[in-house]
Amino acid sequence: MVRLNKKELFKMLPSVDEVLSQKEIEELIEKYPRSIVLESIREVIDINRKTIVAIKTEEEAEKFSLTMEKVIEETERKARDNYALSLKKVINGTGTVLHTNLGRSLISEKIKDEIWTAASRYSNLEYDLEKGERGSRYVHLTDMIKRLTGAEDVLVVNNNAAAVMLVLSTMAKGGEAIVSRGELVEVGGSFRIPSVMALSGADLVEIGATNKTHLKDYEEAITENTRALMKVHTSNYRIMGFTESISVAELVELGKKYNLPVIEDLGSGVFIDLSKYGLEYEPTVLDSIHRGADIVTFSGDKMLGGAQAGIIVGKKKYISAMKKNQLTRALRVDKLTICALEATLRMYLDEEEAVKNIPTLNMITMPMEELERKANLLYAEIEKLNLDADVHIEECLSQVGGGSMPLETMKSRGIAITPNNMNVSTLERKLRLSDSHIIARVYDNKYVLDVRTIFEDEFVDVANELKLAFM
Ligand SMILES: *Cc1c(COP(=O)(O)O)cnc(C)c1O
Repeated sequence: MVRLNKKELFKMLPSVDEVLSQKEIEELIEKYPRSIVLESIREVIDINRKTIVAIKTEEEAEKFSLTMEKVIEETERKARDNYALSLKKVINGTGTVLHTNLGRSLISEKIKDEIWTAASRYSNLEYDLEKGERGSRYVHLTDMIKRLTGAEDVLVVNNNAAAVMLVLSTMAKGGEAIVSRGELVEVGGSFRIPSVMALSGADLVEIGATNKTHLKDYEEAITENTRALMKVHTSNYRIMGFTESISVAELVELGKKYNLPVIEDLGSGVFIDLSKYGLEYEPTVLDSIHRGADIVTFSGDKMLGGAQAGIIVGKKKYISAMKKNQLTRALRVDKLTICALEATLRMYLDEEEAVKNIPTLNMITMPMEELERKANLLYAEIEKLNLDADVHIEECLSQVGGGSMPLETMKSRGIAITPNNMNVSTLERKLRLSDSHIIARVYDNKYVLDVRTIFEDEFVDVANELKLAFM
């Protein structure tokens, strides 16, 4: 074996100081912190050193070249990447509205001023303006939620998993809570009711068969240790066919007979009857309260369309006890969440406004004419590019997602793209890694952009990235 003489190659590596003294790098330091630029230069030199070390043949050695121009270019790219935030905006072309991996629900642009003010100025977060003394952060959502649901009181915590844990810890710790086996859900992101119950210190008593639970199953399971009857909305799966479950109203009857509270974990907090918009009926928070549930829990960032939170509504005596539970301090919500939720909930005072301005509701209820209009617009943008691909508008199916309405698929419109000279998965990868980070589905050898979840002002970015991907 001929030993390569790599000395000449190593000589091509510039020193950090040499790179630093370049005019372009001086300009880069005006754009990014010096530490980032330095780190990037070191990385670029290091990568090239490793490339040289890995060279095994004369041929590879011949091919290797490194100019200052190339080092500068690589440093600029590295600096940009090193300075970029890890949490980035993406374009959601999947059609899944509550996409758990893509940030679940989106906050309405209408409330950006409120959120910015809460974030950047002092507020009465824990201050009673009337009395001029210390107040509680938990009062802020009370009025709005009472107005919307008729519930006696409300408590908001970090997320719904935390809400369920706090509720059980307060109401059933050291005792038993009875739940139907058919409702022991595992929600995406590994929220498992049995595990949460175990953490809360309440014993879970599972009753019934997976597909059927009768009222007498609950009744027979009641002992002197029973602290609560619980109903969990099986929001991310359905047992089809021969099924039977007990309604909240029936459980409430039973609860009254034995003086036991009824807890309902709704999962998704729906505030308006979506069957009006052609969707499957989902029980609303209002329904649960009206039917007499003592405590109802739901997420702030599923169908409600607000910020991540777990909202607990119901009887004052239980909520007062929860406020005193030490766990509450560990699960408490941030002022930005309180602000985003209150301002989102206020939009519900006018249902039409809510459906128009809360992105989650807007996307879920988007009429076919609107989907077609959007598809035509995006198609026109893409057609102008004359891509080397088959491009057409077709029907596709969107989903609500976020573990909400599992059986609900909504007819939508997609732009289907099949490249002539590129693998469809290569196209998918290029667009995913592009500056706009477009996420979409691939099936039947087509790349499909569902227009339901793509904002109109993102169409130009989609077209630009497509153009680059085909270059
Ligand atoms: C989604 C869901 C949860 C968990 O809510 P997070 O806000 O994600 O913590 C709990 N229970 C049910 C029934 C759910 O659907």
